[in-house]
Amino acid sequence: MNTDKDNKIIEIREETFFCDGGDLGHPRVYLTFENGRVQCPYCGQEFVKV
Ligand SMILES: [Zn+2]
Repeated sequence: MNTDKDNKIIEIREETFFCDGGDLGHPRVYLTFENGRVQCPYCGQEFVKV
């Protein structure tokens, strides 16, 4: 079983967006960038503004 976290950083063009956990799934949470980066508090996915 592969339990390793996927460290892929997702690139986002919008200032505000939401994460719903993708395959893992969690409640939809809206995220706003701080200094061009943000990490989802639910699934730990990192996003970077492009
Ligand atoms: Zn998430």
